[in-house]
Amino acid sequence: MHNGEVSYWWQARGGVPPRRPSLPGSTEADVCIVGAGYTGLWTAYYLKRADPGLRVVVLEANFAGFGASGRNGGWVTATLPGSRARYAQRAQGIRGVRELERQLRETIDEVARVCDVEGIDAGLVKGGTLTVATSAAQNARLRQQLDRERAWGDGEDIVRYLDRAELAGRLRVAGAAGALYSPYCARIQPADLAAGLAEAVSRAGVLLHESTPVTSLSAGLARTPAGQVRAPVILRCTEGFTADIPGQHRTLLPMNSSMIVTGPLSDEAWKSIGWDEFETLGDEAHAYIYAQRTLDGRIALGGRGIPYRFGSGTDHDGAIAPSTIAQLGRILRRMFPVAAEAGIDHAWCGVLGVPRDWCATVSMDPRTGLGWAGGYSGHGVAAANLAGRTLADLARGVASPLTTLPWVGHRSPRWEPEPARWAGVHGLYALYRTADRLESARQSARTSVLARAGDLISGIPH
Ligand SMILES: Cc1cc2nc3c(=O)[nH]c(=O)nc-3n(C[C@H](O)[C@H](O)[C@H](O)COP(=O)(O)OP(=O)(O)OC[C@H]3O[C@@H](n4cnc5c(N)ncnc54)[C@H](O)[C@@H]3O)c2cc1C
Repeated sequence: MHNGEVSYWWQARGGVPPRRPSLPGSTEADVCIVGAGYTGLWTAYYLKRADPGLRVVVLEANFAGFGASGRNGGWVTATLPGSRARYAQRAQGIRGVRELERQLRETIDEVARVCDVEGIDAGLVKGGTLTVATSAAQNARLRQQLDRERAWGDGEDIVRYLDRAELAGRLRVAGAAGALYSPYCARIQPADLAAGLAEAVSRAGVLLHESTPVTSLSAGLARTPAGQVRAPVILRCTEGFTADIPGQHRTLLPMNSSMIVTGPLSDEAWKSIGWDEFETLGDEAHAYIYAQRTLDGRIALGGRGIPYRFGSGTDHDGAIAPSTIAQLGRILRRMFPVAAEAGIDHAWCGVLGVPRDWCATVSMDPRTGLGWAGGYSGHGVAAANLAGRTLADLARGVASPLTTLPWVGHRSPRWEPEPARWAGVHGLYALYRTADRLESARQSARTSVLARAGDLISGIPH
């Protein structure tokens, strides 16, 4: 079994890619982007589309797609990162939140469109998404969630409940009592998208320098060990790695997420499971999981594992603890007993950026020329495209329907300093795991009071 090596997604492409040349020395640009994940690459892509004459430089510490963008669960999801109520406090209120959600739904098709136009084969299949309940308490929460969606005005076309039999018609998950289904999600092979985007922006004339860590940022200047880039606009697109940038230690918490992928399942196993539409799959546990059926016949499944490293540390090559692999393996076999035959081929982890209020931000200060986007709280694959389009408009000083969306200019509170941050996150996930255990053992429809307390402390939105 492989552990780390960045991710299965990169290994499935034949290993991590050869690096593009690093910054050869000091230079000037119109826009300098720090970080070549989806956010930085989409921003560069739309900048060049809007104005091919712009000199755009991207500085990447490792290689394009090294971070969460090359390691994620491959859900191109329209889920709003954060809470509707919090975004609704912005000028446009509820109308603005509805527009942000509509834009996120349309973003799935925009990602598909660009893949088509640019010849990026990321294996995108828009099969929707299923959230299954595997305990009575989870099922009750699904029903409550559905009531909230209806009260918000989202109809059957956006989300609907599937009872046990309807769910089984799509996908057989052991012990599942029902599910919510939404058509607004697609599966992809994440590294294929990151690699394809990096090629597309390079073709468009963006200068993408890898192995080039930015050590500090200030108005008009990005410094690296190889020299500096002077540019009137500098955009920070470093999501889960943001805490390492001077002055940003408490902006985004680098939340760790871990994944495993099975070997290929047999045809008989797939017949017993179903999953012909390639829906992405999650559950309603407090320490929830996310999964997809890969195009090469495996199940990729992720969850929290060790949620956070002291001092906002990040990993290097994505290796995870054997206890996390065992934990995810147990969940996989519980949901799909037949998948045990395929074993686990690869395990890895990555960091995503979580703001204190779980709401994402797209921001640009026209006085300093400094901008940034991120804090998608685990829902960043589609959101990074919308954020990239928005950041490209903001960077060019163009007012558009995107630049008034409520996440533009949103300010999240800063995270608590250590050791409170470490103790808080670890305490929270200990509460959630215990709550999940108790709920499964009791088979009561009531959500555990431990989880309620955790939600209250963390501010995790529902
Ligand atoms: C295991 C896992 C599963 C996930 N699953 C999903 C999912 O299924 N669906 C979903 O919507 N979201 C998911 N997410 C979240 C999603 O992947 C991220 O929100 C998204 O990829 C963020 O993209 P990004 O470009 O902002 O950041 P990243 O992809 O992390 O890119 C940041 C880049 O910046 C570079 N960098 C950092 N510091 C510097 C520096 N100082 N100088 C230069 N470069 C620097 C890094 O090397 C990195 O390449 C998941 C995340 C993880 C970790």
